[in-house]
Amino acid sequence: MQDASMQEVDESMSEEDLLMEQESLKQEEYLETLDKMFPNTKQGTLKYYNKEFLKTKHYDQFWSQPEASSYCNAKVIIDGGVGWYNKSYGGKGKGKTNPDGTPTSFGDPGRELEQIRTEKYEGCWDNKTGEKAGPFRLNIKHYQSYTGSTKSHSFSDEIKTIVTKRSGGKCELCGHKGRTEIDHFIPKEKGGGSTLENANVLCQRCNDRKCNKDPEQFMKEEVNRFFNYYKERGMEEQLRQHFTNTLSNGIS
Ligand SMILES: [Zn+2]
Repeated sequence: MQDASMQEVDESMSEEDLLMEQESLKQEEYLETLDKMFPNTKQGTLKYYNKEFLKTKHYDQFWSQPEASSYCNAKVIIDGGVGWYNKSYGGKGKGKTNPDGTPTSFGDPGRELEQIRTEKYEGCWDNKTGEKAGPFRLNIKHYQSYTGSTKSHSFSDEIKTIVTKRSGGKCELCGHKGRTEIDHFIPKEKGGGSTLENANVLCQRCNDRKCNKDPEQFMKEEVNRFFNYYKERGMEEQLRQHFTNTLSNGIS
């Protein structure tokens, strides 16, 4: 009797053990994938902190851009480096510098990480919802044989200078003047090149909304958002009229 019940317990435990082993294998696979994606990272570089950030995650766990950004910024400063938003963080010390010796911005770590997620895509971070779960998760299968670059900010300095001048320091979509980012109009994942023609200057809000959507999809979402706002306020007809006029006569 005692032996039989013992055996029952053992069997149920071994099933649990099996599940746990599968879980730990998946986590191991995840960490191996990170090593393939980020080989030989050097402390103080953005890739290093991106990797460290992903290592804190479970293979099945979602994360958000702001979460990645704040992790990377905090860590680089703890290590005595320059924060990516060095102005607001008052970073000092090592890190990239401009020719005049001032610290440069490395770009947005969250956005860089965005290039390497995609197992499940649930839309970009929405700073209105306050949702902290984060929409990104690593696609392990896809990146097991990863050989490409995880660098998203690959516009040349010349292109960056030209488009920044062109935009007058404003977001080319909403006109917001403040911190802007240089974005691929057609996302890199969808074949867009790091060319002048494909570069546009967006504020962080617009860029987060646009994310890696192709231009047509983004256009539809933007117009729908706008259209719904006025429709719900009884201005559907005026909006239709304005759109028709604008399309045939240009902006009035
Ligand atoms: Zn904007």
